[in-house]
Amino acid sequence: MANSYDLIVLGAGSGGVRCARMAASYGARVAVIESTYLGGTCVNVGCVPKKLFVYGSHFAEEFDNATGYGWQGGERTFHWPTLRDNKTREIERLNGVYRTLLDNAGVDIIWGHGEFVDAHRIKVSSSEGDDQQLYGEKILIATGGRPVVPEFPGSELAITSDDAFYLGEFPADVAVVGGGYIGVEFAGIFNGLGANTHLIYRGEMFLRGFDDGVRHFVRDELASKGIDLRFQCNVERIELDKGRRRLALTTGESLVVDQVMYATGRVPNVAKLNLAAAGVETTGKGAVAVDDDYQTNVPNIYALGDVIDRVQLTPVAIAEGMVIANNLFTDNPRRSLSYDNIATAVFCQPNIGTVGLTEAQANARFDAVDVYESSFRPMKYTLTESTERTLMKLIVDRGSDRVVGAHMAGPDAGEIIQGLAIAVNAGLTKAQFDATVGIHPTAAEEFVTMREARA
Ligand code: NDP
Repeated sequence: MANSYDLIVLGAGSGGVRCARMAASYGARVAVIESTYLGGTCVNVGCVPKKLFVYGSHFAEEFDNATGYGWQGGERTFHWPTLRDNKTREIERLNGVYRTLLDNAGVDIIWGHGEFVDAHRIKVSSSEGDDQQLYGEKILIATGGRPVVPEFPGSELAITSDDAFYLGEFPADVAVVGGGYIGVEFAGIFNGLGANTHLIYRGEMFLRGFDDGVRHFVRDELASKGIDLRFQCNVERIELDKGRRRLALTTGESLVVDQVMYATGRVPNVAKLNLAAAGVETTGKGAVAVDDDYQTNVPNIYALGDVIDRVQLTPVAIAEGMVIANNLFTDNPRRSLSYDNIATAVFCQPNIGTVGLTEAQANARFDAVDVYESSFRPMKYTLTESTERTLMKLIVDRGSDRVVGAHMAGPDAGEIIQGLAIAVNAGLTKAQFDATVGIHPTAAEEFVTMREARA
């Protein structure tokens, strides 16, 4: 049958595309249904454009630092449309790369919105109105998630990170609400690009879940870069005020800004899938419920990535996609994915890189824990006026001598922690770290030269 597939993937994001390509390479007939853009959140409104904006926003400091090295610059100005539109062109190029990858793998790309008719049939509606029905022996839900703004008076005046990538005008004053990855990353972007930036977080200390030492360190660094941090504060109401936004805060104060960006979390994209027609169950948080094999309660339907609400990270969705393709379409031994020791980076400025247990988690798990910690001024800044420092921490289980956590906040932390993640994942001991010769002069060498545990 022409419209019959071994695997139909709903959503052409990182995880869906990888699973589709792998399944096709194993001989399956595969279709991917996508309504918006190829590459999903990561390529279009997530990791990639965010990182480009982070690069863009760091230049202001680099220009300042360059003067300490003898460079004299003329007047500098920032032209938002250039950054925004160059970024969009790069994304369009990547959309094309994704198309080529799928074409070369022999995967059919079906444009339109897909929804379940029953456990095997998907109705695809396109904007041209030419609906079609596809049959899938197996179906993978890979529709990802999207940012949401909680409902409160004036919440419709807030934007999300999706909108921030395409702003018509760059705001002179901006408030970012939320103290997670997206909040701190965008606060750094807006601040670096020259906006007067406020970061509003409802709790005592942002970046919940990260190592406490790193959280405090980053708080101080962001504050010293001029971001107005408002903790134990929330927004009660937003009103228009001569074209600007007036925020009434729970502290009783008010703040007038040009834009308010909410980064208070994301929800799984399930609303328009008609999951009920197939009988697919969701969790209390509205995510698609799956078991360890990513199988839903309906045996031929699977799900991965942000829509299952496990770990919302692109490389995790990709790894899940490869596991699913292997287990469904090969005779290879069943594979599974460990969610332990997943390294991650927050591209705030300075970056955070982290893998394994925080100090508090290690203390809760082991009888005795040694913490090796180093804070220093990066060499590059010694000739400059920059006061930015770097923090590095190793968390060691004293009983086994294993390094169970590595944390860094500083330039290139994401790059540096990737290598350490291999060591932590492999269960290497502090003695093995110590036996490794450092690369001099680098910041990273500190991770193999810290000798004295913190008292
Ligand atoms: P997070 O869940 O990480 O953070 C949400 C933040 O908003 C928290 O500080 C939370 O506070 C706060 N919050 C939640 N609800 C409310 C509310 N109603 N009012 C005020 N504040 C609220 O979400 P993000 O949107 O930042 O990111 C989503 C996910 O995307 C991340 O978990 C991450 O997995 C992924 N991501 C990864 C990136 C990377 O790898 N670099 C970059 C960006 C996103 P509290 O802590 O008190 O709950």
